[in-house]
Amino acid sequence: MAGHWLKPDWEPGLTLPSLPISTLLDLGIQAIILDVDGTILSGKENTLQTAVKDWVKSAQKHLSIHLLSNNPSKNRIGVVADQLGLTFTYGAAKPRRAPLNKVINQLNLRPSEIAIVGDRIFTDILGGNRVGLYTVLVRPIDKNGLPSKKNHFQNLEKKLSRLLGVSKG
Ligand SMILES: [Mg+2]
Repeated sequence: MAGHWLKPDWEPGLTLPSLPISTLLDLGIQAIILDVDGTILSGKENTLQTAVKDWVKSAQKHLSIHLLSNNPSKNRIGVVADQLGLTFTYGAAKPRRAPLNKVINQLNLRPSEIAIVGDRIFTDILGGNRVGLYTVLVRPIDKNGLPSKKNHFQNLEKKLSRLLGVSKG
């Protein structure tokens, strides 16, 4: 695959609840590895917005979903996963390949049939690109389920990734 290790395959500029599931289905995606903090809820919250729950419910009609978080708290990620009825991995150490490969093997799909959806370039996107997943960068979500106005971290990551210009090839 030509391009850039830090470049998402798809950057719609939307938060998760606005992400069109049909686009993923049209690409032949059969499962999603989903980030937690910043992607399905803001870092300090533990109650999911209705829009997020509805999106996950719709997506689950067509796709397997596994939560994969670098957050070391089994309790926090477990509480979130329980609200959605999803399997989960905590303390995942993205962008390391091992935790991603473990989920890929459990799903029993080709990496190209799995999307990783997250809000961080240096964990979600880099990790996903390293193992050949379809990588989707979403806008971070705030506590009301809206696009976070404080997007400093992702903006900084974009600047850094342009500076680094690391080639995949
Ligand atoms: Mg995140």
